[in-house]
Amino acid sequence: MRAAASLAPLRVLTAVLLGGALIVGAGGLFLSTQLLVALAAVAFLWCAAACWRIARRTETAVADSRAWAEVALLQSLLRERDALWAAVPAAWAMWDAEDRPLLASAAWQALGLSAETPPTENEVSIGDPARIFVAEASALANGGRLVLLREVTSEREALRAKDELLAVVGHELRTPLSSIKGYGQLMARQLATVQEQVQRLDQLAGDVMDTARADGGRLTLQREVLSVADLIEAAAGRFRTANPSRSLELEVAPCPPIEGDPARLGQVLDNLLSNAAKYSPPETVITLRGSVEDHWVRIAVVDRGAGIAPEHLPRLFERFYRVPAGEKDAPPGFGLGLSIVRDLVEAHGGRIEVVSKGVAQGCTFTVVLPAPPLAP
Ligand code: ADP
Repeated sequence: MRAAASLAPLRVLTAVLLGGALIVGAGGLFLSTQLLVALAAVAFLWCAAACWRIARRTETAVADSRAWAEVALLQSLLRERDALWAAVPAAWAMWDAEDRPLLASAAWQALGLSAETPPTENEVSIGDPARIFVAEASALANGGRLVLLREVTSEREALRAKDELLAVVGHELRTPLSSIKGYGQLMARQLATVQEQVQRLDQLAGDVMDTARADGGRLTLQREVLSVADLIEAAAGRFRTANPSRSLELEVAPCPPIEGDPARLGQVLDNLLSNAAKYSPPETVITLRGSVEDHWVRIAVVDRGAGIAPEHLPRLFERFYRVPAGEKDAPPGFGLGLSIVRDLVEAHGGRIEVVSKGVAQGCTFTVVLPAPPLAP
């Protein structure tokens, strides 16, 4: 527009001069005057120069107008691009290499965050109640950086709720569990007592039946050749299983084999070992000894416990005889065990011996069994 306006007087002048040149030139030719022809030629040349300048200016103006249109197009494209970027729902902002703000999304601005400087923390807390964002920064090719905020409020809330739930559940479970545990322990103790009583009744029933058999002469033995060491080892194994806290020593010399009922002789040793444990303090040692003496195998159970006063020794193997306990509580028992031991040992052709140096001096009960001389 400006170029067209500046060209108007030049166009008018050119047209006037061109008209004048034609008139003057025609007059000069008609009058045969050289001066007029020369004037017309000068005017004509001036017109040509003016036309050339008009053409140049027009060309420049057209070029200028194209450049302005392109600038306008570029500006509108940039505006569109910025509008698009800003409309991205994520909260992000961009800074150049000198940390000067370039662009921030609408979501970033909606959070009320400043885009003047990039955030320095990895985690950003905004508002009340607080919304938590993780700031993820990435470097741009031009040396700048882009920071994207990723909201983790609901994840954090879920984690907090999980922790709270675990704490509450843990606490709520512990209360009934501890009472179940308490009752469980009580029931276990009661069950152990029931089991103990059942075992005692079973033992009593067995003792009563054995006594009846012995008294009726019906005590039968399943005899076989036995290794004394095996007999002692087996009895020691059973004792250790039943009394894991008691210490039992074995002293077994080489012995010849004997003939006897392994179950019944096992019962004899079990009875003597259980008496030794019953009538001696738990920290004392019990010894099970095997030896041989003049074709007699001697199996002794030695304890370091209550001992027996000499006046009770002769009656010890009577049915239902129990050494009076005095002030102390007598350990449970019926006074049948030793009488059965004696009956069983005698049924094997042997004898039972007891030695005690007195009260609190311990006892040694010895089963003496015949060991037939080995065939030559
Ligand atoms: P009980 O079931 O009473 O133990 P026993 O016949 O086995 O019956 O024993 C009879 C008595 O002999 C016991 O009551 C106890 O006084 C005494 N007695 C048995 N073994 C020992 C021992 N190792 N130490 C002290 N006294 C014992």
